[in-house]
Amino acid sequence: MELLKKRILEDGVVIGKDILKVDSFLNHQIDVALFDEIGKAFKEYFKDKKIDKILTIEASGIGLACVVAQRFGCVPVVFAKKTSALNLSADVYHSEVYSFTKQRSYNVMVSKKYLHQGENILVIDDFLANGKAILGLSDIIDQAGATLQGVGIVIEKGFQGGGDEVRSMGIDLKSLAIVESMEDGKILFREEI
Ligand code: 5GP
Repeated sequence: MELLKKRILEDGVVIGKDILKVDSFLNHQIDVALFDEIGKAFKEYFKDKKIDKILTIEASGIGLACVVAQRFGCVPVVFAKKTSALNLSADVYHSEVYSFTKQRSYNVMVSKKYLHQGENILVIDDFLANGKAILGLSDIIDQAGATLQGVGIVIEKGFQGGGDEVRSMGIDLKSLAIVESMEDGKILFREEI
């Protein structure tokens, strides 16, 4: 998505070797017009799929999931909650996720009330790095007996390999921008094929 790549080049800040800060438009301050275009782009890519629900993860995925849901006829959005609680109740699905940005594992959980057998799920998130968050959500969808129809990511950091792993599992993954390298603070995108 050219508009997104342009914005990343203008406003993205590279921190160290592998963190991209885009909080001026994506995950702290939000550019709603850009979000609207992001919703349109995911609808265009996944237009032939029947989607019953959007699943994301708190907090930065929520706004994105809502604009995408609007494009799919205002289907419900469910966000997985992050918790360090060990005493998870029986009425939640949960999966352990390792966060490389926080360098620790945490549980993501979704109430059994909001994810059901047979539902067609589109997963949306802001970033894909090592792919652990997406694999955790995919695990929760499996536990519910629902079907993962696809994954929409705004920024994939291709050099961290999670996207390639998710694709190799046969999951339909669409990333609107794939950053191939961030050497010396210079952002280069993967050419689309
Ligand atoms: P993964 O599970 O794919 O390794 O990491 C994905 C999650 O980590 C995303 O939900 C996002 O919140 C966070 N994340 C990973 N890399 C970055 C990054 O470069 N910048 C920001 N802002 N968040 C990131």
